[in-house]
Amino acid sequence: MSDLEAFRADTRAWLEENCPPEMREPVRDEDDVYWGGRNASFKNDAQKAWFEACVAKGYTVAEWPKEYGGAGLSPAEGKILKQEMGRIKARPPLSSFGIWMLGPALLDFGTEEQKLKYLNEIARGEIRWCQGYSEPGSGSDLVSLQTFGEDKGDHWVVNGSKIWTSYADKADWIFCLVRTDKSDKYRGITFMLFDMASEGVSTKPILLISGSSPFCETFFDDVKVPKDQFIGEINRGWDVAKYLLGHEREMISNMGGGDGSGSLGKAVKPMLGEDAMGRLDEPMLRAQLAELDVEALAFKAMAERFMDELKARKNHPATPNMMKYVGTELNKRRHELVMAAGGSEALEWESEATGGGAKPRGWLRTKANSIEGGTSEVMLNVISKRILELPDA
Ligand SMILES: Cc1cc2nc3c(=O)[nH]c(=O)nc-3n(C[C@H](O)[C@H](O)[C@H](O)COP(=O)(O)OP(=O)(O)OC[C@H]3O[C@@H](n4cnc5c(N)ncnc54)[C@H](O)[C@@H]3O)c2cc1C
Repeated sequence: MSDLEAFRADTRAWLEENCPPEMREPVRDEDDVYWGGRNASFKNDAQKAWFEACVAKGYTVAEWPKEYGGAGLSPAEGKILKQEMGRIKARPPLSSFGIWMLGPALLDFGTEEQKLKYLNEIARGEIRWCQGYSEPGSGSDLVSLQTFGEDKGDHWVVNGSKIWTSYADKADWIFCLVRTDKSDKYRGITFMLFDMASEGVSTKPILLISGSSPFCETFFDDVKVPKDQFIGEINRGWDVAKYLLGHEREMISNMGGGDGSGSLGKAVKPMLGEDAMGRLDEPMLRAQLAELDVEALAFKAMAERFMDELKARKNHPATPNMMKYVGTELNKRRHELVMAAGGSEALEWESEATGGGAKPRGWLRTKANSIEGGTSEVMLNVISKRILELPDA
């Protein structure tokens, strides 16, 4: 047996022993996965047991080094763990902007001291992070951001506001882009970290079309940020910001099953019924569903190749833009089709039988996929310029 085969066997046995049956059910609600943080609570004992087992094993961030809370798995071992978790349909033990976004940036740009502190906190789900990038008037043109940090010697005094800050009202800390030099657009931004409980920070939830309020307006009024709470170099936060966006786009591209993790055919079978041959009883939709399932599998293969290239640092810098564009547009089409298959019943919004309108709410949520982390139009601009090398319009 090769080392990797032995690792697969051990992993399979470990998952069998440690992943409770309740944690092998599909994620229906956001709180079906633990988000961590100072004020977090577990939905049930199974969620707690699964989370704690994974923390002890380093499996909330399996490929991070052990000293930072991970299991130190190689990329090949990490892939096997992912496959084995997928095989038993295990829910992620922890959802976290720290894992998806801040962690990778810290691993690349953080000091040793920062890595030891923040990465371990993220791995153990102790601190919940939010992302302070967008501002009113600075979304796609992010580098025009105006939130300003005035240098006061041993600290900055930050004033301004952010918008669309996901979970700002639930987060403990924020990673935030702050202008610290008004004379240079790109080299005048610092990537700061600060506590959302700091005096002068306030949030106001924004209601989404899906009926939930996952994000906020965030205001900073004379917020004191100690001078050692930044990543990278002062005024060079744009480099960190761009690197982090690559990871964010990769994460968003895999949202919602567009990664081939679930067959649409199976999902809609209860709605459409079967013909005598056990096929979906709707020839037109059947063909479209098959097409989207094949596209999702192709996307999954492409994503896997991209991740391998990324880990080997051999990826084209604009690949995350391509992944994000394809993954999110595919995800939107998949949800459109589920709604078409469900007919008027799929519009049901509140009943217990529909899980509180899980389908229509999920469908409406996908509309945001091609906006958050950079819009599809902006992704296409980058693809045309940096991958296809077309001239600027
Ligand atoms: C669900 C959700 C969660 C989010 N979470 C966060 C978060 O946690 N933190 C955070 O900082 N931000 C967050 N955002 C904000 C997100 O990053 C911005 O919405 C996004 O970058 C677009 O910016 P904007 O909304 O200002 O739109 P704008 O930039 O004003 O764009 C408006 C329209 O113009 C188009 N457009 C703009 N520029 C161009 C161009 N050059 N070429 C062609 N078309 C163009 C866009 O494609 C879009 O259709 C979130 C957004 C959503 C929807």
